Formats: sequence, C-alpha cells, structure tokens
Amino acid sequence: MTGLGFFRLEARRLLLSIIAGSISGLITADILIGVAAASSILLISWGWQLSRMYRWFANPDELPPIGNAGVRGVLRDVYVLRSRSLQGSQSASRAQPYAKESLASMREAALIVNVRLELVWCNDAAEYLLGIQFSEEEGRLLSEVIPGKSLKKYMRQANFQKPLRIKPGPDPEFCLQFEFSRFGVHDSLVFVKDVTAQDKLERMRSDFVGNVSHELRTPLTVIKGYIETLQSVVSEKEMTLQASLASMDTQAARMENLIADLLWLSRIESVEGERKEDLINISELLSTLVAELSLAWPERKLELKLDSPQSVLGDEAELLSAFSNLIVNALKYSDKHSITIKWIDTAVGPALLVEDKGLGIDAKHIPRLTERFYRVDKSRSQERSGTGLGLAIVKHVAVSHDAKLFVDSQLGKGSCFRLVFPASRTELAPESPGGIDDYG
Ligand code: ADP
Repeated sequence: MTGLGFFRLEARRLLLSIIAGSISGLITADILIGVAAASSILLISWGWQLSRMYRWFANPDELPPIGNAGVRGVLRDVYVLRSRSLQGSQSASRAQPYAKESLASMREAALIVNVRLELVWCNDAAEYLLGIQFSEEEGRLLSEVIPGKSLKKYMRQANFQKPLRIKPGPDPEFCLQFEFSRFGVHDSLVFVKDVTAQDKLERMRSDFVGNVSHELRTPLTVIKGYIETLQSVVSEKEMTLQASLASMDTQAARMENLIADLLWLSRIESVEGERKEDLINISELLSTLVAELSLAWPERKLELKLDSPQSVLGDEAELLSAFSNLIVNALKYSDKHSITIKWIDTAVGPALLVEDKGLGIDAKHIPRLTERFYRVDKSRSQERSGTGLGLAIVKHVAVSHDAKLFVDSQLGKGSCFRLVFPASRTELAPESPGGIDDYG
C-alpha cells in the first residue's frame, strides 16, 4: 500500500465520522457533542488497532492481525518486507558454509582471519603447507602461527596491495607468498602459495646478470688501459688508427656504463623486499644533485623549485640514482632547452617533477618505457650514451619506496616525469632549503 492510499483511506474514515457526528448532533440539537462522540469512537478504534499491531510485533512469527482496511494494508507491507529480509539472511547464511566448502576443496592453501587477525578457519591444503593443525591453532594470531617479523609488520601496516613473500625457515630456500583480500565486514581471506621454485629462478637470473656484469669489469678495465696507451703512442698523423682507437674508447665507455647500470639494477632488485627507513631530506639531496649536474652540463640551464618541506623514508643511494636518471634523461633528450625540477606537495603526497621541452615521446611508447633496454629510438639513445636501463632503475626504486611513476609527454613538445611518494612514507624535513634555484 502506498502512503497516499493509506492517507486517503484514513481521511475518508475521518470525514465519515464527522458527517455521522454532525447528523447525530443535528438529532441531539448539539453539534459539538455529536462531533466529540464520533471522534472518540475513531480514536478508540485506532488505539485498538495499534495495540493489536504492537502485540503482533512482539510475536512476529504469527500471522498479522486483520484490522481495518488502512491498517491491514500497512501490516501486509510490513509482513512482506520482513519475509523478504528473512529470506535474504537465510540465503546469506546458507551461502557461507557453501563458500567454506568450496575453499575447503581447493588445492590452494586458504585461511580466514578475523578483524583481530586471529585464525578462524583454514583448509586442509593450508594445514599441509604450513605444517599446522587447525584445532591447535584456532583463535591464535596469524603472526604467531607463522612467526617472522615481516608477516607481523605486513599485517600491522594492513596494506595488502602487494603480496608478501617470506621464508619461514628452517629450509633457507622454502619461500611462501601471502595474498590477503578483505571480505565480509572485517574478515580477510588469505591465500598462501609455495613460490620456492619461482623465487629460486628469479634469484638465479638476477645472480647470473650480477655475476656476468661483475666478471666483465676486469677485462674491460684492461682493454680500456690498452686503448689509452695506444692512443698516447700512435702518432697523430695516423688518422685512421686514431679514429679506430677513439671509436674503441667510446664503445668501451658505453660498455662500462652498461655494466655499472646492470650491477646497480641487480643490487636494487636483491634488496627490493627490504624496508628502507632512513629519513632522506629530499630538498638537500636535489640541491646537491642539481649543482653537480650543472657542473657536468655547463651549457644547460637547470631550474630547481623546492616547494615541499617533506622528507622521504627510504634509501639515499637508490633515490639519488632514480632522480639522477630522470634529470639526465631530460638533459639528454631536450638539446638546448632549459629543464625544470620541482619538489612539490600533491593531494596524495610529495612529488618530484622533471619537465623538459625536448623531443617528447609518442603515446604508444609510454607504457613500455620502464622495460629493460626499451628505447624509443635506439640510435638516438646510443648517440646520447644511453644504456636503456635508466627508467628500469627508476621503476624499481619507485616500487621499493611505494612511489608511482607517471609520464606525460607530447611528441615534439616535451615531457614531464612525475615520481609521486605516498604520504605514509614522508616526514617534515627539520630545516629545508626552499624557493627557486637557477643553475647554468
Ligand atoms: P636510455 O639509457 O636509452 O636513456 P632509459 O631507460 O633512461 O634509457 O629511457 C628509455 C627511453 O625513453 C629512452 O631511450 C628515450 O627514448 C626515452 N626517454 C626517456 N626520457 C625521455 C625524455 N625526457 N624525453 C624523451 N624521451 C625520453
């Protein structure tokens, strides 16, 4: 029944009572007595209906009282609504054991933890993989069931965007990956995977690259030494030989850069999971870096704007390499134009902006820029002594500092590389140099 329907019914009833009261008033020659009598009858009838309604509310399993037409409509609507919500909650409670049954039959290890991160359920696969007995562990904190600092920290921080890998020991190779997803009101479903083989492969690849790069360093130093010696003994008249030696020298320098970048990348990768918690004064770091780069690129103008007082919790060497790669790229790919470096506050946290008015990048290349050895134009990158690893290093540093790299670029107009840090990783710098510095 609609609100309007109920109102019409009750208004009609009131009108009828008034007419009846008026007629009885005409008969008794006192209209007021008639109206009062009719209103009393109406009130008594409403009171009686209300008391029956409340009695039914106290025992809702019984059928609703029949009542008069208006109240009957209301009661019917209440009855229908209540039956629907009962059906809903019954199907939800029927769905819960069903969901648990499906999780129980899965081959993947699954656990459920409550809001206090206590273990409330797990399947057989989880018991097997974690070597636990649910009956003994039920109600215990998950971080006690699977001891280890990193799981405890991960759960305390409650940032489950990235999965967590841990080595619960005693086998130093045994590696587990935890993926948390919230469900229900405050519970979390945790999937645990044995990623030992995957972890071993990744480590082998990274070790291999690291070892090869390391091994190449010594022969390369020897070759460079010979090139230098030959350059000094070969007469300037022997133009062809001098040109060949100059080219060998350039290539040896390229190889040296490549090895340095490969070694640095493998070092960053090997410590990616570790938390970096040193408080780095970014304004100071940028001031020093920009001053050094302007000495190395004296013909170029670098403008530094320090508008944020925030420091970042992280690793100084890693941040320095990421910032330096972005600024050097802006210098390399923008010829004569000046470039701007800004440290600003944004809605989500502080950000480094490196802007140039150089070559720009076609939109189709942007998603692949951070892949190792991906270059928009290989010959141009090599001309500018690029290794193709700079942005891969930036991406790794960003990931291990929970930061995000954004690239806005227009072909022929220039680019803006933004490295945005989360507010959770920042603190106010004790004393930071502010304002604008011009170099060059
Ligand atoms: P490289 O050592 O070749 O510079 P990077 O990984 O640093 O390697 O960059 C990948 C590619 O992205 C570069 O080869 C270049 O084509 C492009 N690139 C990077 N920064 C810029 C920029 N500021 N302007 C134009 N292109 C850029």
